[in-house]
Amino acid sequence: MRKQCVFGPIFSRRLGSSLGVNLVPYKTCNLDCVYCECGKTLNLTLERKEYLPSDLVIATLKEAAWRLRDNPPQCVTFAGWGEPTLHVHLGDIAEAAKRIFPQERLVLITNGTLFARYRNLLEEIQVFDLVIPSLDAGCETTFQVVNRPHLSLSFAEHLESLHLLRQHFTKDIWLEVFVVPGVNDTPKELQELKKHIQKLSPERIHINSLDRRPTCEWVKAPSQKELQKVARFLGGEVIPSLQKTRNPGLSLRRQYDPHESRSTPQ
Ligand code: SF4
Repeated sequence: MRKQCVFGPIFSRRLGSSLGVNLVPYKTCNLDCVYCECGKTLNLTLERKEYLPSDLVIATLKEAAWRLRDNPPQCVTFAGWGEPTLHVHLGDIAEAAKRIFPQERLVLITNGTLFARYRNLLEEIQVFDLVIPSLDAGCETTFQVVNRPHLSLSFAEHLESLHLLRQHFTKDIWLEVFVVPGVNDTPKELQELKKHIQKLSPERIHINSLDRRPTCEWVKAPSQKELQKVARFLGGEVIPSLQKTRNPGLSLRRQYDPHESRSTPQ
């Protein structure tokens, strides 16, 4: 079982140089998204527990701070091999990360589905400077097709979770919409999505698409023209392809970005 808990810094298309924090073993999530570039979910669960030892994560963060003392990352980003909010000590680890990296932006990338079920998460995330949740569907049917959630998780709960996040988190929220051509980009679906997004009123809306190999081979990347059309309709911006954002100052390995599509180094 792969258990790497801190990785990078890597180059993130949206965040610049970013030290990644992973809190769960490969691959633990409450969703099994068809586009996930991290691979099929092996442990589809809603249970919050201490998946990776909190002490180990914090000690590894301290080592990273020492290693990077002359060239610190721009941000510390909780993402990784699954859903970080499933870790029962997310709040404590994030507080420690803020103490260890006080100058760096603390970022949480999450599928955004668990805030209604676990309300204490709304307290735990207050230490973050930025939260990047996802919304890929306008209705239950599309949610089931695209995100393939745990049996007891509905689209209504996902929406409620995002609304609670918006109410309780007053700092930046960048909502990510992953476009799966032919499924969530139909006029009807986009109309529904737009309604939900307007109610959530995130600071930014990021339109994402396939950049690496997906879990389901049938998922394809839309053309730039199609993506731009979706972005215009939803009032968002397209995340540039990894190929177009390569930073010559960083090695290829660092350019491998686990965050934008929430996949991780293999
Ligand atoms: S994309 Fe994110 S939420 Fe979806 S299965 Fe992968 S890790 Fe889970």
